[in-house]
Amino acid sequence: MNTRYSLRKRVLVTGGAGFIGAHLCRRLVAEGNDVLCVDNFYTGTRENVADLLASPNFELLRHDVTFPLFVEVDEIYNLACPASPVHYQNNPVQTTKTSVHGAINMLGLAKRVRAKILQASTSEVYGDPTTHPQTEEYWGNVNPIGPRACYDEGKRCAETLFFDYYRQHRLRIKVARIFNTYGPYMHPNDGRVVSNFVMQALRGEPITLYGDGSQTRSFCYVSDLVEGLVRLMNSPDELTGPINLGNPNEMTVREMAEVVVRQCGSRSRITFAPLPADDPKQRQPDITKAQQLLGWRPTVALADGLAPTIEYFRRFLPSGA
Ligand code: NAD
Ligand code: UDP
Repeated sequence: MNTRYSLRKRVLVTGGAGFIGAHLCRRLVAEGNDVLCVDNFYTGTRENVADLLASPNFELLRHDVTFPLFVEVDEIYNLACPASPVHYQNNPVQTTKTSVHGAINMLGLAKRVRAKILQASTSEVYGDPTTHPQTEEYWGNVNPIGPRACYDEGKRCAETLFFDYYRQHRLRIKVARIFNTYGPYMHPNDGRVVSNFVMQALRGEPITLYGDGSQTRSFCYVSDLVEGLVRLMNSPDELTGPINLGNPNEMTVREMAEVVVRQCGSRSRITFAPLPADDPKQRQPDITKAQQLLGWRPTVALADGLAPTIEYFRRFLPSGA
């Protein structure tokens, strides 16, 4: 006999007050799940989930995943980890701890309550890739002692832990390798390229292009990404991943600067700044697996994703203009 009062699925989202987490929490609450959002507010904010606080299906807990957590849940989305190079390099030891100790604690929790657990991994496990586009079979090209290593190697070790818990403890795991994602609820001081360029364009400030801007990225709108995460979580147990989730629409960072300036109706000019160490030269997901196994592919065109993103960032202008 089921002795629980509620038959709603209990879903834990770590890093749930961050950019992607806030969208995911909203989606899971709207679907009628009981959502527990855990965050230490390092880069996320209470404001990102403020509209959910009144919902009886939503609970917000301030907690650092590097410490054990004892809750009863059916599913875990493990998103806790700063994702912007500026923020993850600010306290690199804490970044590695968040990925590694965080994974150990969340996997331990999943093991105790037999929950299904999804890891928000990253295209950074491919480092500065020598294979293009990147398939899940590629093992990567990561500098293990560089300034990005705290994030890249932390995420790689988290993947290792997920697969060892899968093999050793028969845990139900899902590993998503997320490529550059953008949208509303990115922090205006996040430091990543889309938020930087949009804020600079809206303020009429120079657009800071690192290097010559010829490095490429492929940008995915956040609603597409969240759809992919939910589909992966709901997929058959045999489907562990790793699976690439991203938009294959590759462009140079310079092209992104030009698109943002145009779409903001801005007169900002481009200024050049040094390329950060180990900045990957190219990045594009091969999403064949996601298409075939999840029936997923991105649907939001860049212009359609940038429009609500730009509107969101306008609220941070002093005049609200
Ligand atoms: P974000 O920085 O907006 O969100 C991360 C959240 O984790 C924040 O709310 C932060 O406060 C929280 N957090 C950090 N350390 C924590 C800790 N020790 N304990 C509890 N909470 C902690 O970043 P995001 O873009 O929303 O990324 C979410 C996840 O997706 C991250 O794991 C990131 O590595 C992964 N990812 C994102 C992208 C992207 O383009 N957005 C790409 C690849 C992977
Ligand atoms: N970038 C840039 N100007 C900025 C911020 C970022 O030219 O103000 C570049 C950065 O060097 C990288 C790309 O944009 O080549 C994407 O950077 P981001 O920090 O968003 O994420 P990454 O994909 O490097 O993790």
